Amino acid sequence: MDFSTVELSAEDEAFRTEVREFLASIVTEDVIRRDRETGDNFDEGVHLALGSAGYLEKEWKTEADGGFSRVRRRIWELEKRRAEVPWVTWGTTSMVARSVAKFASPEIRDDVLRGVFDGSVRLCLGYTEPEGGSDVATCKTRAVRDGDQWVINGSKMFTTGAHNCQYVFLITNTDPDAPKHKSLTMFLVPLDADGIEIQGIRTVDGDRTNIVYYSDVRVDDKYRLGDVNGGWTVVREPLDAEHGAVAAADDGLADVAIMMHQAGFMAEAADNVAALVGSSGAVEDGSVAYRLGRSVARLEASLSSPSIFGRVALAQTMRDIAPDLMDIAGSVAALPIGADGGADDRSEYVYRFAPLVGIYGGTLEVFRNMIAQHVLGLGKPNYSAPKAKAS
Ligand SMILES: Cc1cc2nc3c(=O)[nH]c(=O)nc-3n(C[C@H](O)[C@H](O)[C@H](O)COP(=O)(O)OP(=O)(O)OC[C@H]3O[C@@H](n4cnc5c(N)ncnc54)[C@H](O)[C@@H]3O)c2cc1C
Repeated sequence: MDFSTVELSAEDEAFRTEVREFLASIVTEDVIRRDRETGDNFDEGVHLALGSAGYLEKEWKTEADGGFSRVRRRIWELEKRRAEVPWVTWGTTSMVARSVAKFASPEIRDDVLRGVFDGSVRLCLGYTEPEGGSDVATCKTRAVRDGDQWVINGSKMFTTGAHNCQYVFLITNTDPDAPKHKSLTMFLVPLDADGIEIQGIRTVDGDRTNIVYYSDVRVDDKYRLGDVNGGWTVVREPLDAEHGAVAAADDGLADVAIMMHQAGFMAEAADNVAALVGSSGAVEDGSVAYRLGRSVARLEASLSSPSIFGRVALAQTMRDIAPDLMDIAGSVAALPIGADGGADDRSEYVYRFAPLVGIYGGTLEVFRNMIAQHVLGLGKPNYSAPKAKAS
């Protein structure tokens, strides 16, 4: 790992200025307020502007393929966070687009990727079902072949961004009698197809996600990704990426773990609370200083934890320190961002956000099991009922 400071060239400095100014011009206060109100974590105007300026394509492509250089990619990512660009739907889109590039028929692939790059096509993830999401392969949504088409029936829970997307990357079951990993087929389903109903759900932190119902939805076979019953091969790669099971870059120009973006809110809340108690003098109280110091120490440790360990450490730390930060800030912390008389320290938001960060993309319990099994070699968890004690 290289910890040296990155010296920017004059061209990269100019790039940073250009990006900062561009983002400031499109992510206006109005965009941020609207995003807070809708919980969408997406703004079509911003997204289309990013697309037409070529930034979506440059971010998605590798340097060899015409994308950003390593340094510019890092600048771009950090500037996007600073500007608070709504990020959820581009996250799902760029992930699914990799599977489209690899597995879609040329006709679908070229069309979809063109739209992904100009911002007009957005893609969401249709994995989780109302009866469970941790075991993605246990899928009840059925797709049945009918000539050149498939008929899809079922429902998907938490399809975040579906109402702002054109396609859903859908896991279906095409052979209920087969072993579960050989029963799946992936489709890119157009969300304007007849029989699709999208209902909004608001989460405790104010985000909007959806439940999506599929009733006799007809999809042409050209929208299938990969082989029939070969869906596990298609879905494994994006799942690994979402789980952070991808090795961290060793040049220091990338996050050491996934969910660093979410952790940024926790870091900001800690800074804000420190400023608040510093200016009010409350930090002179030893217990305030102790609890603040303990929170900051835990925060820093979590920000430095790499890979899958970082994924767990960030989400767990967020849960652990948010109540302390709210307590330290005092009663003003109970007021939401933007409320009259509030401190806008964000600890209250982080408190509500923290549980979700430990659920989506895989729960903390599941990640801990993965570490136990694959890193510590403790073997597969045994979920069978405990044996009755001999009396
Ligand atoms: C805000 C938000 C956005 C989301 N967005 C999307 C999205 O866009 N697309 C999508 O498909 N899904 C999405 N999800 C769903 C998310 O991926 C699932 O919630 C998650 O995988 C857990 O599944 P579940 O909620 O069905 O819980 P379950 O799988 O039913 O688990 C219930 C409980 O059992 C525990 N558990 C389950 N299996 C194990 C195990 N093997 N070992 C130990 N403990 C276990 C879990 O930790 C949890 O506490 C989103 C969820 C949230 C909250």
